[in-house]
Amino acid sequence: MKNFTIITLGCPKNTVDSRHLIESLKRDGFSYVEDFKKADFILINTCCFIGDAKEESIDEILTAVKFKSERILIVFGCLSKRYGEELKKEIPEIDAIFGVDEGEKIVEYMNDFIEDIRESNNQDDYTVEPPSYRYIKIAEGCSRKCSFCIIPYIRGRFRSINPDEIIKEAEEFVKAGIKEIILVAQDITQYGKELKGYNLKELLRDLCRINGDFWIRLLYLYPLDIDEKLLQVIAEEDKIVKYLDIPMQHSEDRLLSLMGRRGTRKEYLRKIREIREVLPGVTLRSTFIVGFPTEREDEFQRLIDFIEEVQFDRLGVFKYSREEGTKAYSLKGQIPENIKDRRYHELMSRQAIISLEKNRNLIGKKYDALIDYIDADIAIGRLYCHAPEIDGALIIENTTNLKAGDKVNVLIIEAYEYDIKGVVIP
Ligand code: SF4
Repeated sequence: MKNFTIITLGCPKNTVDSRHLIESLKRDGFSYVEDFKKADFILINTCCFIGDAKEESIDEILTAVKFKSERILIVFGCLSKRYGEELKKEIPEIDAIFGVDEGEKIVEYMNDFIEDIRESNNQDDYTVEPPSYRYIKIAEGCSRKCSFCIIPYIRGRFRSINPDEIIKEAEEFVKAGIKEIILVAQDITQYGKELKGYNLKELLRDLCRINGDFWIRLLYLYPLDIDEKLLQVIAEEDKIVKYLDIPMQHSEDRLLSLMGRRGTRKEYLRKIREIREVLPGVTLRSTFIVGFPTEREDEFQRLIDFIEEVQFDRLGVFKYSREEGTKAYSLKGQIPENIKDRRYHELMSRQAIISLEKNRNLIGKKYDALIDYIDADIAIGRLYCHAPEIDGALIIENTTNLKAGDKVNVLIIEAYEYDIKGVVIP
């Protein structure tokens, strides 16, 4: 009774937590199996960032319950940290509930079920991430006070992870042939604020010194905390892909202030200009919330104008989700769901036009590409301008001899709203 499977929902931080848990369990003699029917333990790493994420987590738990039979069902992560009591009451089939950062307790719990742990030579390789990339979490928690966000209450204050640990992990990945290291945290610009004299810039320089052919991607930078020196490091280091994910949430000063976000429309436009000047050809991704309490129609229209003016390469749009315990929860002027839906679709369809145009501009050009998966004779990969699991993908048809983890040169031949098609060139 030593097989387990794990279902990971939510953001890349959860992917990292799951990977660490898998490693600990494997060290303790457990075997990862992909097929839950062969598993003795089913672990679900949950998310509750917004309403949809909560629903997805609950759906996964209920599906697992349906097929549970004799298996042990363990639920952990953000949803169970926040609604542990309710989950236990409503879904008594769950055997154990853990919160965030409780990997050790989960291993201990599972070990209690196993009296005789022996080494297994037959462990499946885990498949949380393909062989092309790995996330590295560089900090935990968040100390910002965005009024819509529950993360600081769930994940606690911002804590940077020791740079030696991060560098060691990156070295191991590069040695194992991983071609892309993705640095994640709720806000990576805050990295090192409690480390005295060591910050994101130094970390990036140190990571770039690791020998090997690999990319470094940066996820989630608080827009106005991207300073000139950080941009210089990104510009100078070839290993860092020219791709920035800068969540802005809105364009209008009144709403930004209600959201507890620093910055104004004018400052955002100035920052985007500065980024594009220092990093020509940079791919810019941002996320926005529509239907935040009190958002007026004219403000929403100005958000559309902003998107059209900036022409982001990638855009994530969320409908505001009212989260108990946050400041925005009690704001008057909550927006009805049908209006949120309409604004969401309007913004997404405007972005689809921009995205298609941007993708068409890639046709006829050559790029380095990473292959993430092979599916029959189709390879799914990415260029520097695609973050895995978030953005579109590169499709290469009729591939022979390609395998996941390969880096190849491609010519882009077709473009769609989100994906592009390419052929391998020598
Ligand atoms: S920066 Fe704001 S939105 Fe992001 S995790 Fe922190 S509080 Fe939440």
